[in-house]
Amino acid sequence: MKYEVVIGLEVHVEMATETKIFCGCKNAFGSAPNTNVCPVCLSMPGTLPVLNEQAVEFGVRAGMSLNCHIPNYSKMDRKGYYYPDLAKAYQISQFDLPLCGKGEVEIEADGEKHTIGVTRIHIEEDAGKLNHQGAESLVDYNRGGVPLMEIVTEPDFRNAAQVRAFLDLVKANMEYMGVSDCKMEEGSLRCDINISIRPEGSTALGTRTELKNINSFSAAVRAIEYEFKRHIEVVEDGGKIIQETRRWDDAKGRTYSMRDKEEAHDYRYFPDPDLVPIYLSDERIEEIRQSLPELPMAKKQRYVAEYGIPEYDAGVLTMSKHTAKLFEECVAIYNEPKAVSNYIMVELARLLNENNMEPCDIPVTAKGLTDVLKLVNDGVVNSSVGRQVFEEMFKTGKDPAAIVEEKGLKQIDDTDEILALVRQIIAENPKPVADYKGGNAKAMTFFVGRVMKATKGKANPQTVNELVRTELEK
Ligand SMILES: [Zn+2]
Repeated sequence: MKYEVVIGLEVHVEMATETKIFCGCKNAFGSAPNTNVCPVCLSMPGTLPVLNEQAVEFGVRAGMSLNCHIPNYSKMDRKGYYYPDLAKAYQISQFDLPLCGKGEVEIEADGEKHTIGVTRIHIEEDAGKLNHQGAESLVDYNRGGVPLMEIVTEPDFRNAAQVRAFLDLVKANMEYMGVSDCKMEEGSLRCDINISIRPEGSTALGTRTELKNINSFSAAVRAIEYEFKRHIEVVEDGGKIIQETRRWDDAKGRTYSMRDKEEAHDYRYFPDPDLVPIYLSDERIEEIRQSLPELPMAKKQRYVAEYGIPEYDAGVLTMSKHTAKLFEECVAIYNEPKAVSNYIMVELARLLNENNMEPCDIPVTAKGLTDVLKLVNDGVVNSSVGRQVFEEMFKTGKDPAAIVEEKGLKQIDDTDEILALVRQIIAENPKPVADYKGGNAKAMTFFVGRVMKATKGKANPQTVNELVRTELEK
């Protein structure tokens, strides 16, 4: 039997507000343990929470970017559960009246467009963090009270590529709007994955498992693929899938049972009596809508129309506001959109990847990048040396022209100099010459390669090719 996988997501996004959601403590990552805390976020008796207006606005922005309905009223509720990183023994969250209602967004995966329904977005406080050290566990409350939003989707995903595309889009949207930096490794974007299977063609929903501890987008893809296979194996062996929460172990590449899945009624939700309901007037909602920047999807369409670059390029460039900004600045200086886009998508992307950097860490300026393109275009250096110069600039921040000067990388265009080398190498290598004359045209690449090597890659490749050919034909 053929099965299809059905996936829904719960995406937690840490919001980049100045301060925490219910107190004035700094919302920062990486501070010394328990330094960004106060009586409110330490849950001391007698303290009262005050809702951070910026967190509300960020939540609404996120909802708008996913085309959610924004109601005028919502409220905060208490979600009761006990854990050492949650001193109050309840989390302030939202239950029946979330900040954002239903929405939907179009994604593109494997060349196909697909619509994902958004069930709701609510805002809540994050809990502290436990640091396990041997037999001991230490609690750091710095994260306690950090504003979070939770985006809940409909079970509309049919493969891991669609999940990846949705997460990329959420991340890009949040970054564009300044709502979050979405550094998944620092925990600012976390996702839980609800997954079930059913026979292809069926519309019923199977029993689902919830996967937790997903620390990167690529881990999400791996976890889904593993769990899909596991479900099929269990069912085909005549077993039953148990509704439960499972932990993903990325190093081992498998999931482990954690606990039975809890139901909403287990949490004893009730309205938080310390906080007044949130009221957003139509005017306020409209004001927030007007303040939204151009979002990735719109930018992508504009790039195709305005710069005439392929849709694929436009999609890659707009996935981060940092690469989009660099692209626009480059094109303003040097109007060769396709050449600029190629350099960003290939050379820059490779260097970022090799150095474990994100687009927000891009160390090159538009002037630097276009200077390299001009050096190649003007024939000062050949294209492979151009890439070398770009890499050097990426690492040192030096000016491309200075790098060319300092390292003596100028293209050798002197025909006499190249001809002398060609003749010398031909004289030293009678065998490949005989091969060439015997009809093996490929033997020519041997000589071209030798000349390029002898000039440390600086010779003009066209000149080398021409001279090798004429000399071998003699
Ligand atoms: Zn505090």
